[in-house]
Amino acid sequence: MQKDNMIEVRHVSKSFGGLKAVNDCSLLVAKGSITGLIGPNGAGKSTLFNMVAGNLKPTEGQIIFDGEDVTGLEPYQLYKKGMLRTFQIAHEFSHMTALENLMVAGADQPGESLFQSWFNPKHVAEFDMEIRKMAEDVIDFLKLGHVRNELAGNLSGGQKKLLELGRTMMTDAKAVLLDEVAAGVNRTLLKDLAANIQRMNKELGYTFFVIEHDMDLIAELCDPVIVMAQGTVIAEGPMEEIRANPEIIEAYFGS
Ligand code: ADP
Ligand code: MG
Repeated sequence: MQKDNMIEVRHVSKSFGGLKAVNDCSLLVAKGSITGLIGPNGAGKSTLFNMVAGNLKPTEGQIIFDGEDVTGLEPYQLYKKGMLRTFQIAHEFSHMTALENLMVAGADQPGESLFQSWFNPKHVAEFDMEIRKMAEDVIDFLKLGHVRNELAGNLSGGQKKLLELGRTMMTDAKAVLLDEVAAGVNRTLLKDLAANIQRMNKELGYTFFVIEHDMDLIAELCDPVIVMAQGTVIAEGPMEEIRANPEIIEAYFGS
């Protein structure tokens, strides 16, 4: 078990009835990397993510997170260990401001400090101040200061994505899983999103595992890129190599 891998997927399979959505799939996500996952529709990418994040249990194989076998753990257990996936801002949070959304994400941590502070009003106030300060820092980091008091529901698609990213920063995440985060985001905000992912990676040390259809975004962000087809890994390497590989072009565009 390699200590410099954040995520290890070992011979993982997932069947839905007779269909093997993921078939003996193995891959590594190095600590500190932004690793891309691409492949045609139905390749099994989301199913693999769901297993890594604990939303689905593998039929076979193991998932190792930061050196620990986490196969079969529930999402909240993985969350506590620092493995997070972004979620669309839920309907009930759309009536809260951007800043409040971040504060809720920070306060949502199932840590003991929150539990203890529950019984002590002074601690609650201190805790609130701490969370608020952190939320302000995250807002500034993401350059969302101008919409801090805007209701989340009124933000543009791209701003919502930034806010989703911000919610992960309010927790003790080590690895962040992004499933098609660029979908429906305009070009300008896509650049902001990419820049922020890079800054979170370089300046704050987050590891990213990214499913993405936008090949330009993948090329800009990810190294290495892992290619899945028919439930398993068919190639891995820098995007230039992947793009130049005729077998991969065949897997995407072949009949
Ligand atoms: P991708 O994200 O690469 O497009 P998915 O992981 O979503 O691929 O799907 C892989 C295959 O598994 C597809 O054939 C899909 O129809 C099937 N599949 C995914 N989820 C389920 C499910 N919950 N029940 C049955 N089949 C599923
Ligand atoms: Mg998918």
